[in-house]
Amino acid sequence: MARVIGIDLGTTNTLAAWADGRVPRIIPTERGHNLVPSVVAITGGRIVVGHPAREQLLIHPASTITGSKRLLGRPFGSPIVQRLKRKLAWEVVEGAQGTAAARLPNEGGSEVHELTDISAVLLQQIARYAEAHLGGPVDGAVISVPAYYPLTQREAVRTAARTAGLDVWRLVNEPTAAALAYGIGRSVNQKLLVFDLGGGTFDVSVLKVHSGTFQVLATGGDGALGGVDFDIRLCDHLLDRFEQENGISVRDDPVVVQRVLFAAETAKQDLSLLQHTEVRLPFVREKRGRPIDLALHVSRMQLVKLTEDLIERASRAVDSVLEQAGLSYRDIDEVLLAGGQTRMPAIHQRLERQFGRPPRRGVNPDEVVAQGAALLARSLSTSSVQLYDVLSLPVGIVAVDKLGALRVQTVLPRNAQLPIEVTIDVVTGPSRRVDLYQLPSTDETDPALCEPLGGVLLVDRKPGDPVRLTLRIDADARLQVRDGSRVLELRAGRVVDDGGLLKSPKTDPRAPVATAGLLGRLFRR
Ligand code: AMP
Repeated sequence: MARVIGIDLGTTNTLAAWADGRVPRIIPTERGHNLVPSVVAITGGRIVVGHPAREQLLIHPASTITGSKRLLGRPFGSPIVQRLKRKLAWEVVEGAQGTAAARLPNEGGSEVHELTDISAVLLQQIARYAEAHLGGPVDGAVISVPAYYPLTQREAVRTAARTAGLDVWRLVNEPTAAALAYGIGRSVNQKLLVFDLGGGTFDVSVLKVHSGTFQVLATGGDGALGGVDFDIRLCDHLLDRFEQENGISVRDDPVVVQRVLFAAETAKQDLSLLQHTEVRLPFVREKRGRPIDLALHVSRMQLVKLTEDLIERASRAVDSVLEQAGLSYRDIDEVLLAGGQTRMPAIHQRLERQFGRPPRRGVNPDEVVAQGAALLARSLSTSSVQLYDVLSLPVGIVAVDKLGALRVQTVLPRNAQLPIEVTIDVVTGPSRRVDLYQLPSTDETDPALCEPLGGVLLVDRKPGDPVRLTLRIDADARLQVRDGSRVLELRAGRVVDDGGLLKSPKTDPRAPVATAGLLGRLFRR
């Protein structure tokens, strides 16, 4: 049987699992860890991945890439990239393909690395652990992605896997993978709701499971909500209290802020078990020649107060997904949890209040997605499971509305069952290019706030020609655009010369073109 592993490529941690029978097992690292921190550090020509990279985050924050999953494959000018780049300790720049990339310092200068290469380094490390553990080469992988991931980000994951020498058998949405981990091999006829709150992303999916068939009815969530937002709230609170007690601020020192953020995450995790905890950090500042420590007490209740609105946001997303599936709380047979942040008791309590019964516990929420991906990998070789997923974010093109404003008009709706095909009539502008967008989960239709998917160039058409295009999205969420029977190449970026259409941001002239250099040499191409 082919050796196909499941990989949960997470914002915070990445892990892999393998199923040769019904029970999937997590593949450990050479140090015996189940989780590999999704951190890659490049310093002095040396690439470090996982735990050792995380350990040097405090020493070399600008050379240590964390949280890149939210940016992977997104155009540099996308609103999410512009917002998130301010929160990161490493520099986000525009890469060669117009997507977000990382500029890291190297001897006397800097070098730009594509984020697909950074993810590839991580994936290759995971493949090495798997090969060492399984005693032979890995033939392929099923990789999980957030349900809300735009098509561009899915494509970027495929590129990263290819660069790492991994054959992707399928991408699976994270909440769908969690449902597979619960339902494969179990003869159930149920409706499940998966609440998946990981380090950086929040997904909700409702599925119907019936004798080996898994059908996603609706999916949604919040691409900008995750465990890290809980850490930031607690970190801010600790920094404020330190300032109040000592009359000095440490916010100007990025290393201290990072230390407090780490301590806040640990305290947050402790408060899932305990009612109270102490945060102690020696020597965070000097005052009149004397070292000052940070020593603060926090309670579970304080953490809940600081993060109430985040839990409320997640809860509203649950309501909206249920509404789209045309279901009520009572229709759901089981609420499944995935993602480490769901260990927070306040989240269980909130779900229990909403659904009138506690969410299902039992499977480790950190491991359930990798396990589901591994089970899917196994069943792809045996064809024992049918999986029908949906389009998580609508696809649209720009049209002029009644008031003359440019708006992205949906042509493929959210939660459409995949595969799906639609025919649309468009009129080309001077550029003869038609751009496609994915609308964010907020139903925003302003093109500047939507995610550009790229555009097709109608080279043999004249400006003003009416054209009939066919858009197809396959079962694995891959987009194809055709003019008649001709498949058109999707070009990155967005139109710059069409009357009234948006201009893409200028490339930073200082940014060197990304090179395959250091990273390229490491890959099994
Ligand atoms: P994941 O992306 O699923 O690995 O989830 C990682 C997130 O889960 C991080 O934000 C962690 O801080 C958070 N997390 C892990 N364990 C706990 C815990 N015991 N209580 C609260 N959050 C946790």
